[in-house]
Amino acid sequence: MTVNLLDFDQPKLVKFFTEQGEKTFRAKQLMRWMHHFGVHDFEQMTDIARPLRESLAATAEIRPPEVKLEQISDDGTRKWLIEAGGGNGIETVFIPEDERGTLCVSSQVGCALECTFCSTGRQGFNRNLTVAEIIGQLWVANKALGRDPKGDRIISNVVMMGMGEPLANFDNVVTALNIMLDDSAYGLSRRRVTVSTSGLVPAMDRLGDECPVALAVSLHAPNDKLRDEIVPINQKYPLKELMAACRRYLEKAPRDFVTFEYVMLDDVNDKLQHAQELLSLVQDVPCKFNLIPFNPFPDSGYRTSSSDNIHRFRDVLMRAGHIVTTRKTRGDDIDAACGQLAGQVQDKTRRVEKRVLIHHRQRQAVI
Ligand code: SAH
Ligand code: SF4
Repeated sequence: MTVNLLDFDQPKLVKFFTEQGEKTFRAKQLMRWMHHFGVHDFEQMTDIARPLRESLAATAEIRPPEVKLEQISDDGTRKWLIEAGGGNGIETVFIPEDERGTLCVSSQVGCALECTFCSTGRQGFNRNLTVAEIIGQLWVANKALGRDPKGDRIISNVVMMGMGEPLANFDNVVTALNIMLDDSAYGLSRRRVTVSTSGLVPAMDRLGDECPVALAVSLHAPNDKLRDEIVPINQKYPLKELMAACRRYLEKAPRDFVTFEYVMLDDVNDKLQHAQELLSLVQDVPCKFNLIPFNPFPDSGYRTSSSDNIHRFRDVLMRAGHIVTTRKTRGDDIDAACGQLAGQVQDKTRRVEKRVLIHHRQRQAVI
């Protein structure tokens, strides 16, 4: 089988070349061609001798994922629907801001964790993305966006906040992160690459050990009772354990705070009493808050908190000395906002089917 070299970080490329009796510096050369210059044709790699180019072309390929659709929002946000085989597709979003350009990258086709307010979670789970499919999103976006007039890359930040739970696809995500950070590839700073997790505690520890980058934790509730309900992984890793894991992570992290994400759901988690509870929950964890107005999707069953409630909630946290940002909704016209990424998921968990059944039973009970 032909190997796809986009699946390899530099150590894996070194192994690939040494196994063929080639020098280790070839790995760096190839990383530069593939990722720094975005070249996928071996023929264009002019500083690699022709016989090696030919043998590479015979045994390997550089195959980026295929773009099925690209949409551009009025506010400059761009979304790519990327082919994932078997009727599946995943989404990648670029969000331009004044001082930076952020790419929001997916890690799985769907998600198995079933947070109740998340469109990806609602769709069920199909499979983990390969390294080539994860880094391929940056490859594709980078090629489309290029560099600014000063010669800097338009994409300055990456957030693993697209479809899927990155820490549930640990090995592939970490290999892709290594490529993002590699100076021969994208050379992003650890502080500008963020992994967002719903709180897989053992994997958070592994990330701290193996590839510490900036960390965002999807908190969304200040107590176990509510979090068990809306972020069900909390039943396995409750808040006390999650907070301890955040503290351990900070000992290794490139930043000295964790970002807590908190989706604002009307009448569910947006009361002042929730804000007070939140303050005592995080008192031992250096953190910032990112309040995300709930982005609706069909049949979600939730409403977005009013802006008054969001302001009041924010003020409680700010008065206690916290830095709080409220996420602006971007790319509204192309459904590119947080939690709206739908892609195309062929559910293998039969979740959608089960939900339809429950829905029918409930209706029958009512009738
Ligand atoms: N699985 C990871 C990363 C992907 S989701 C995680 O859960 O952290 C990125 C962020 O969007 C998470 O904080 C997630 O909880 C939030 N989110 C999910 N659905 C949303 C919605 N409908 N509106 C607003 N934010 C949502
Ligand atoms: Fe999965 Fe994150 Fe959505 Fe929860 S919020 S279902 S963990 S993608």
